[in-house]
Amino acid sequence: MNEYDVVVVGGGPAGVSAAKAAAMNNVSVLLLEKHPTIMANKPCGEACSKETLVTAGVKPSPRIVMHEAYALVYSPSMIEVKIPQIGYNINKSFFIQEIAAQAAEYGADIHVREEVTGVVRENSKLLVKTNRDTYKAKVVIGADGYNSTVARSLGVTERPEPIPTVQYIMANCRLKNSDAVRFYLGNKIAPGGYAWIFPRTEKLAEVGIGVRGAVAKDYLDAFVKLFSDELGNAKIIDYRGAPVPIGGAVSESVFDGAMLIGDAAGHVIPLTGAGIHSSVSAGLAAGKVAANAVQEGDTSKRRLSEFYKLYEPWLNRIKKSLRAMRAVEKLTDEELDTLAKIFQADDILDLANGMDIGRVAKKLLSHPVLAVKLARQLL
Ligand SMILES: Cc1cc2nc3c(=O)[nH]c(=O)nc-3n(C[C@H](O)[C@H](O)[C@H](O)COP(=O)(O)OP(=O)(O)OC[C@H]3O[C@@H](n4cnc5c(N)ncnc54)[C@H](O)[C@@H]3O)c2cc1C
Repeated sequence: MNEYDVVVVGGGPAGVSAAKAAAMNNVSVLLLEKHPTIMANKPCGEACSKETLVTAGVKPSPRIVMHEAYALVYSPSMIEVKIPQIGYNINKSFFIQEIAAQAAEYGADIHVREEVTGVVRENSKLLVKTNRDTYKAKVVIGADGYNSTVARSLGVTERPEPIPTVQYIMANCRLKNSDAVRFYLGNKIAPGGYAWIFPRTEKLAEVGIGVRGAVAKDYLDAFVKLFSDELGNAKIIDYRGAPVPIGGAVSESVFDGAMLIGDAAGHVIPLTGAGIHSSVSAGLAAGKVAANAVQEGDTSKRRLSEFYKLYEPWLNRIKKSLRAMRAVEKLTDEELDTLAKIFQADDILDLANGMDIGRVAKKLLSHPVLAVKLARQLL
């Protein structure tokens, strides 16, 4: 069968979730993934909140949750702020595969090793061209990551600002604390971004960095040297880089018969660069809207725009986190240190995740410098 109601391009967190949501709403679905395996095909810290699994409908089994973790955030002079709220370090590949399995149970077809090369319009339908075949679709969902082929085919030129990231997986580490994911801020350590150590076990960790206006690998190597007691004897067993879209959601991600979701649409929380939860949520919303539109026989841009309504809480969070990032990126290392002295866990969580940034702003209003440089920007 070369004709589907919904064709989803890309088998990452966004794509598998879209395929599942569309299939469970009783339309025919094809999920296309260019790699030979549905898995985490690009580097990722693989840390997420507990709610991510709830949203995805995935049980926190030991196979998927490597371990629970709290977070430690370090200012430039290593002032530590503990965030006791527990999240997960997951095996992202098994997580994505579990959602893909659910999509298959609902009847979705899945083709791996099949790369979409372009999408063209033919009357009211879209033709999805791959390296192997051509498929007719009533709705195409582009979940094919930052360098989205679907977006290019649709003529979308707007691209969210990316931050280049590089990550090593390091083995034979001597981690002092394998129960915490650690974030390191500062213009000397990671200009315009942050560095991280996310332990998988006591001996194995994801060590990465995102920086703007500088060479990420140079900063990562310098960061690794800083932790010679923990990483000095460690060996790099995986070394990859990828851009993370931190410039906020694109202004238009819905078109006649097509939608863009996940990294392809900038559905990432800017200040943290976290995109697993927001991509899963975007996938579930897009899949549902696409299926309902097909069943109603109206796959116009107007009908599919219901996506914006369903996804609005996330779009608001992305907007607020972007505003926070724009203010935080102007702070000096000294000001970041001051912030670490004033801030408590909830303040960091609200600010980074684009939650109650107004409350955080009010807390800073009496501070002589941060009132102007941060609080007013947030308000
Ligand atoms: C170094 C790094 C660390 C990160 N750490 C975290 C973290 O700890 N927590 C967190 O929440 N987020 C993290 N993120 C962000 C997170 O990984 C992404 O936001 C998330 O994976 C986006 O999901 P997606 O499905 O939109 O895109 P992707 O995960 O990029 O998946 C896109 C899929 O589409 C496929 N594809 C691409 N083009 C085609 C094509 N033409 N035809 C068919 N298939 C195609 C790709 O192979 C891929 O499988 C990190 C990102 C990076 C780079």
